[in-house]
Amino acid sequence: MKVAIVGAGVVGLTTAVELQKEVKGIDVTIFADKFYKDTTSYVAAGLFRPGTSFAGPTQEITKKWIVDSYNYWDKIRVTPESPKAGITEISGYIFSSEHKHLTRNHYIEDVVPLYRSATEDELNLCPGNWKYGSFFRTILTECTRYLPWITEKYTALGGRIHQKSINSFSELTDFDLIINCSGLGSKLLCKDHKIVPIRGQVLKVNAPWLKTFFYGDFDTYIIPGFETVTLGGCRQYDSYDLNVNKFDSMAIQERCYSLVPSLKKAEIVTEKVGLRPHRDPVRVEKELIEVNGKRIKVVHNYGHGGYGVTTAPGTALYAVKLVKESLSGNSKL
Ligand SMILES: Cc1cc2nc3c(=O)[nH]c(=O)nc-3n(C[C@H](O)[C@H](O)[C@H](O)COP(=O)(O)OP(=O)(O)OC[C@H]3O[C@@H](n4cnc5c(N)ncnc54)[C@H](O)[C@@H]3O)c2cc1C
Repeated sequence: MKVAIVGAGVVGLTTAVELQKEVKGIDVTIFADKFYKDTTSYVAAGLFRPGTSFAGPTQEITKKWIVDSYNYWDKIRVTPESPKAGITEISGYIFSSEHKHLTRNHYIEDVVPLYRSATEDELNLCPGNWKYGSFFRTILTECTRYLPWITEKYTALGGRIHQKSINSFSELTDFDLIINCSGLGSKLLCKDHKIVPIRGQVLKVNAPWLKTFFYGDFDTYIIPGFETVTLGGCRQYDSYDLNVNKFDSMAIQERCYSLVPSLKKAEIVTEKVGLRPHRDPVRVEKELIEVNGKRIKVVHNYGHGGYGVTTAPGTALYAVKLVKESLSGNSKL
């Protein structure tokens, strides 16, 4: 069986390796026009925290994706490979001066090992009039390390990689099935108008003294990683601008410095912009496409928005289940 995967971000690579593990001897080739530093995945801070608006086709499936994802990350976290894979445990606070519901997360409160209300003392940890807060422990996956680590696993299992822009699935008719993990690229590849970019900008700063993450109101977040601390952010709907915007940068710095003043002395290492591939619902489903009289089996796995690092493993497992159904011959699709 020959399978082509379009996309080499966190979703494509995780799906590829799950498929290799599940279907022994399968011949997998990844096609992508961008890799590693040039993907959206590379920009992400990588905190395991799905937004409460993240949605699969049903509540039940969405929850399963989240639980499966947590278990996937946690399994790697407790191995000696975890630093190389960029995976670690991390704790921190989410504060709001406006709304209690912003500090809660119905998806993960019963999944992560600890999720509780912040105490009065903790509400005074950071400057600001914080009325509500939660403290929780979760997982961080830094794609700067995870993408090379998972690529190594993939090639060790016999996977191939081609740098190529795919303009139509008809270019891949030599394969028995295509898995589409092209993120925002699906807008053109599938003519899918439901997928929209949500632009994000972050600063990566050198602040090794910070070990705790902090979220404040209005998309303010401070997330320590392995080498740098990510300061964010913004969410600009339907913006395709990949340039660093100096006004966004100033606003991020002002908000983050007022939340954690010690960051004022942190050196700025780099600034990054990424376009979150937002779709409601995230599309993980089978499709049979007819091209020049030939039927092509496709399994889609795209549209993870701002939560693709968090949820890539869960949707990957689900996509692999659909691939197995499609290839078994019992499925019309
Ligand atoms: C500022 C910012 C912060 C974030 N923080 C977090 C976070 O803390 N936690 C979290 O879970 N998520 C976070 N995210 C979201 C996360 O980055 C995305 O959800 C995730 O990277 C999507 O992964 P992907 O593999 O679908 O897409 P991508 O990483 O964009 O990969 C898409 C791949 O498809 C390829 N491709 C597309 N079209 C074609 C084509 N036509 N032909 C060939 N190849 C094609 C591309 O080259 C690329 O290899 C953040 C995003 C941003 C921008």
